[in-house]
Amino acid sequence: MNRAQLARELLGHLRSQKAAGISYVSLGARPEAVAEVARPATAPPARAPEPEATPAPEQHTLIPEAARVSAPTLAPMAKRRDPGPEPSPLPFDPDAEMTLDGLQAAVDGCLRCKLGPGRTNLVFGVGNPAANLVIVGEAPGANEDAEGIPFVGRAGQMLTKMIENVIEVPRQEVYICNILKCRPPGNRNPEPDEIDCCEPYLHKQLAIIRPRLILALGKFAAQWLLQTKTPIGRLRGKFGRYQGIPCLSTYHPAYLLRNPRDKKLVLEDLLKAKAVYHGETEAEIELFR
Ligand code: SF4
Repeated sequence: MNRAQLARELLGHLRSQKAAGISYVSLGARPEAVAEVARPATAPPARAPEPEATPAPEQHTLIPEAARVSAPTLAPMAKRRDPGPEPSPLPFDPDAEMTLDGLQAAVDGCLRCKLGPGRTNLVFGVGNPAANLVIVGEAPGANEDAEGIPFVGRAGQMLTKMIENVIEVPRQEVYICNILKCRPPGNRNPEPDEIDCCEPYLHKQLAIIRPRLILALGKFAAQWLLQTKTPIGRLRGKFGRYQGIPCLSTYHPAYLLRNPRDKKLVLEDLLKAKAVYHGETEAEIELFR
């Protein structure tokens, strides 16, 4: 029997089945074999490369639950800061009775922080050891580093005018110092680890002098003395307390050299300091901590 005869036989058989009410005929084949036959010859390979323009799928939909829980444990490790070496012990006993000269001699040669090796001179402080007014700045600059004296150069000249012409006190009657005793390179801002290392010296200076009034110059001095993160623009002109001592904040003279328009604000602040210094008014404490 040729193929045409076979096809006619098969067609006739199927018609007779249909006439007898049979609507389904099994091929007797395995389903997977049928699927294999049904797959078009042009189907793409199973591991076709990603088209470049295809956007990456949302990662959180693809990360298995077990992998997801480990992600947060990695983040803190990535952020962890190297604490660096422990600073050397303090060169004096913080609880001991001592003079300013004794403290200065103890501090001389300090290498507790990374600024020590780069300095020309340690700038401890200058002025009257029994001053009623202590002025605290930020850190020595190039002139101060060269001379070993705080507030020399143009900013120092402006400070002298502030003290003598506005507060009306001879400069040698007050005591002037900084938070940091050594110059940060390029006059950059003090860094927290440097302040941590150096602040015991300023605490001790203020404990020895015990002034009636402190004037904080600039953000770093004001925030350190008042233990706050409040911006200097909101601190200036207000009294807070450093260990019970009234402390007035104002802008740094170096800032005024760059922003002379703000001189009138500083003048207002200094007149408040003058009135308290000369006993004309009590300090109105507005900042609490
Ligand atoms: S800045 Fe202060 S702590 Fe750092 S080396 Fe100078 S004196 Fe020592």
